[in-house]
Amino acid sequence: MKTIEELIEAGVEGKRVFVRADLNVPLDGSTITDDGRIRAVAPTIAKLAAAGAKVVVASHLGRPKGAPDPQFSLAPAAERLGEILGKGVAFATDTVGDSAAATVAALANGEVALLENLRFNAGETSKDDAERKAFAEQLAALADLYVGDGFGAVHRKHASVFDLPALLPHAAGDLIATEVGVLKKLTEDVARPYVVVLGGAKVSDKLGVIDNLLEKADRILIGGGMAYTFLKAKGHEVGISLLQADQIPTVLEYLARAEARGVEFVLPVDVLVSAEFPDLKTKAPANPSTVAADAIPADQEGLDIGPGTRELYAAKLADAGTVFWNGPMGVFEHPDYANGTKAVAQALLDSDAFTVVGGGDSAAAVRILGFDETKFGHISTGGGASLEYLEGKTLPGLAALED
Ligand code: ADP
Ligand code: MG
Repeated sequence: MKTIEELIEAGVEGKRVFVRADLNVPLDGSTITDDGRIRAVAPTIAKLAAAGAKVVVASHLGRPKGAPDPQFSLAPAAERLGEILGKGVAFATDTVGDSAAATVAALANGEVALLENLRFNAGETSKDDAERKAFAEQLAALADLYVGDGFGAVHRKHASVFDLPALLPHAAGDLIATEVGVLKKLTEDVARPYVVVLGGAKVSDKLGVIDNLLEKADRILIGGGMAYTFLKAKGHEVGISLLQADQIPTVLEYLARAEARGVEFVLPVDVLVSAEFPDLKTKAPANPSTVAADAIPADQEGLDIGPGTRELYAAKLADAGTVFWNGPMGVFEHPDYANGTKAVAQALLDSDAFTVVGGGDSAAAVRILGFDETKFGHISTGGGASLEYLEGKTLPGLAALED
C-alpha cells in the first residue's frame, strides 16, 4: 500500500485528490454530537492541502435510500471540518452533479471541498457491479488521485471504497495506516490475558467475530443487546429484550467451543429492565429495575447490565494485558442505562492493558460519557470494519488500496 507521503513526493500540487473519508458522525437534528471521526481524518486532509492539492472529500452519512434525503446531509460535517482545519470548506450540494463539478472546478491549490452524501446515489451501494462502476466513473471524473482514509467503510464493497481506487492512482491515508497497524497487533502477539468485551445492538454483525476470537482471546465478556440471545440459549426467559432466535444454535456452539478450548465466556449475572424503551430525546427518568439475568419478566426488556455485572466485568478486566472492546453495554444514550458502559470504560482505564475501543457508538459513548480518549490505547473509527478485520476477512476497501 502506498502512503500519502509517497503520493506527495510524486507530486500533488495542483492535482485534484479525492479523499474517501468516513464522516458518518452521530447527529441530533443538524447538531453533531460527537466529531471524533471528523477529527480523525482531518490530518490527512490538512497534509494534502498543505502540499498544494485540491482536496475533494467524500463520505457517506447514515443510511439514505440511494436518493437525496435532507436529514442525512453532510452540510453540518462541512462546517465542522472547516472549523477543525481552520479554513473554509466548500460544500457541493450534490455528489456528482452540477454543484460538485462547479465546486471542484473552483478549487485553488490547497483548498478543500466536501461533496454531498455518497449514498444519495444508488450506484454507491449497488450490488450490481456495472451500476457501481458507472457511479465510480462519475466520481473519477472529479479527481486525478485517490486517497482511501474512510476506515469505517473499508468492509463495504461500495463504489467510492472499492471501484473508484481501481480507476485512479491511489494511496492509503494516515488514519487507515494507523487503524490497520493497531488491529494487526491484535492478531499477532498479544499481551495476555487477552480480554474481549462485546455489546451493542447489531447482534448478527457481531456474532461472527466470536468465531475467530474463540481461537485468540482468553476471556470474552458479553453485554448489550447480544447478551439476550446468549441468555435465551442458556434457557432463560428474556422478555421483550433484543433477541435473534435463529442464532441460538450458533450461540450454543460458541459456548461449547469456548468450554472445550478453555476460553472463559462471561454473561451478565443481572440486568436493568423496563417495560418501555427509554425516551432518548427528553431523557425522562426511566426508573428501571434490577433483576437477575435468569429472572427477566416476560413483559420487560433488558436495557443495560446490572450492578453485579458491572463489578464482575471490572474484575475480569483488572488483570488484562490486552483488551478489545466493541459495543456499548446498554442504551448508554439514556443516563439511566449508561452505567454499564461507563463501568467498562473505567475498567479499561484502570487496567494496565493495551486497550482498543472499536465501533462508532462505542467510541462516541466513551467521549460523550466524559472519558479522556487519549487515555485509551486506541479508539478505532470503525466498528464493522474492525470486527471484520479481526475475523480475518479480506476487506474490499483495503484490498483496493494494494498496489
Ligand atoms: P458500535 O457502533 O459501537 O459498533 P452498535 O451500533 O452495535 O455499536 O450498538 C450501539 C447501540 O446499541 C446503541 O445505540 C445502544 O443504545 C444500543 N444498545 C445497547 N444495549 C442495548 C440493549 N440491551 N437493547 C437495545 N439496544 C441496545
Ligand atoms: Mg453503531
